[in-house]
Amino acid sequence: MKCQSCDTELMPKKRDGVEMEVCPSCDGMWLSRQELSQLEDKAFDFGDDEKGSLMLGSSPTTHKCPQCGKFMNSFQYRLYELEMLFCEDQHGFWLEADEDKRVLELMKKEEANLARTVLAEDRFAAHLRYLRSGSFMDKIHDLAIAAIDPRSKPRF
Ligand SMILES: [Zn+2]
Ligand SMILES: [Zn+2]
Repeated sequence: MKCQSCDTELMPKKRDGVEMEVCPSCDGMWLSRQELSQLEDKAFDFGDDEKGSLMLGSSPTTHKCPQCGKFMNSFQYRLYELEMLFCEDQHGFWLEADEDKRVLELMKKEEANLARTVLAEDRFAAHLRYLRSGSFMDKIHDLAIAAIDPRSKPRF
């Protein structure tokens, strides 16, 4: 396979722990859907279901798929400011030099946001458990008695 941008023969290479085809001349990268997913998983632990949409819409380009030569489409990677090319016949995704690092960066951020949401939900659930717990109702009850009978003192 040849680089879609400079026509150099792509070489298999391991980057970020993922096997991909890399252009030795311009450092462009060619990844299958699975390899792209593997790359994301290096920075994101919540699994595919939590990653959100990979692409919403795409536009045609004149860049050719290294595998089948068909014109590729470009799309905005997970709605971030990162343009990627892909072959509609699902041959793969084209990343420019160092865009693999951008993917890792974005997925790391995504993971941190998700972790915060999960944590906030946990706190809210704990708060609800507290409100429903017997001890809370007892306190309300004691307060009500204290209000009616000035001699009884609230116990907290
Ligand atoms: Zn190249
Ligand atoms: Zn193709």
